[in-house]
Amino acid sequence: MPGDRTFVIAGAGLAGAKAAETLRGEGFTGRITLVGTEPEIPYERPPLSKGLLLGSTERADAYVHDAAWYAANDVDLRTATTVNAIDAEKRRVRLSDGDDLGYDKLLLATGASPRTLGVPGAGLENVISLRTLADSDRIAAAVHGGTRLVVVGSGWIGLEVAAAARLRGATVTVVTPAALPLRGVLGDRLAKVFAALHREHGVDFRFGARIHELRGGPEVAQVVLADDTTINADVVLVAVGVTPNTALADQARLPVDNGVLVDRQLRTADPDIYAAGDVATVDHPLLRARLRVEHWDTALHAGPVAARAMLGQDAQWDRLPYFFTDQYDLGMEYAGWVPPGAEAEVVIRGDEQGREFIAFWTVDGRVAAGMNVNVWDVTEQIQELVRAGLAGSTVDPARLADPEVALPSLLP
Ligand code: FAD
Repeated sequence: MPGDRTFVIAGAGLAGAKAAETLRGEGFTGRITLVGTEPEIPYERPPLSKGLLLGSTERADAYVHDAAWYAANDVDLRTATTVNAIDAEKRRVRLSDGDDLGYDKLLLATGASPRTLGVPGAGLENVISLRTLADSDRIAAAVHGGTRLVVVGSGWIGLEVAAAARLRGATVTVVTPAALPLRGVLGDRLAKVFAALHREHGVDFRFGARIHELRGGPEVAQVVLADDTTINADVVLVAVGVTPNTALADQARLPVDNGVLVDRQLRTADPDIYAAGDVATVDHPLLRARLRVEHWDTALHAGPVAARAMLGQDAQWDRLPYFFTDQYDLGMEYAGWVPPGAEAEVVIRGDEQGREFIAFWTVDGRVAAGMNVNVWDVTEQIQELVRAGLAGSTVDPARLADPEVALPSLLP
């Protein structure tokens, strides 16, 4: 009887909360237990490095649902509780509050955790990673006009916090072993756009730099680089990427390859256990690759796909990777995927210097990805071009670059 079934969701982030919402939306009348380590009800993380630091987003806007929603929808939300172990044979999970729960289906939506710096002094006070609301609160409390912030890492989160901190009046130094920010994702030409943006706003970049140690006590006071350069710091943000929280899957002996391996129905090797969001490595049917995507849009839509699959529906994961960022007055969306090692050509449509353009990455004449910068309402069209490219269609780069040529007219 469906009403007697129990679905357990490990991880009360965006993917987990959206899965619970979809289960109820699809008419599931059984028990739903949503278990999350954090003391907060489920929330979205993008505002943590943007609006919440800038004061432009209310805390309440970050929550996926308000607190009353869970009781109203008969979702047993257990905050401040961790799923400690899975017994896949008996289909039971053990929780940190001592409970032992049977499940019919289990969703792993445990997300990812920030990497730490393995150098002396990494544990000093005011050395902060940014993953949780509590982390964002700490940064907001510590970074003001005159604060000397050192950001370690030049990925999205590092740059977003750098921008917010500059707008709060802090002095910002970004330290990275890379030659340019975001170079791995965007390549040199587009990475330079972000480097210039931050320089214009007064960010000091230290490229090709490695951290030797952090000094101070109890609070951090200095960042020492491998070449003995010393940078004075009141706060250090460590933003050097994340690792997926696969401990439960490892313990249950599920296959893990970077993330928990799932098929296009987001099902693991165990037919009763699914995984979605930052923790899942999906066998992507369109990209023909195994991909783990650490983006908001993936968590938002993969939770529901997993929920439908858990209900036995024919749900499939075939969304293209999609990402957005906001830094100063630059807003952008990126959709698609350039396979690692592919020789990609960059085609620009619009005003690159004025930061109002679309960049396309083409591989063998096919659009593999596109990024709209301060140009809006085009991401659907870009995604159509990427899908057409995946189906084998090539585009004329001159027409792709020409703003007079409507993007849909480039479709086959
Ligand atoms: P999470 O959000 O990590 O949630 C997983 C939850 O599970 C966590 O609360 C964790 O504590 C809990 N958990 C872990 N293990 C257990 C366990 N054993 N038992 C119970 N609970 C457990 N993406 C974008 O596309 N655009 C952006 O602008 C953007 N900005 C971001 C800014 C910040 C500061 C951060 C941190 C991320 C940002 N992202 C952005 C990425 C996006 O937020 C993530 O992809 C998304 O949060 C993934 O959701 P999730 O539900 O898979 O995992």
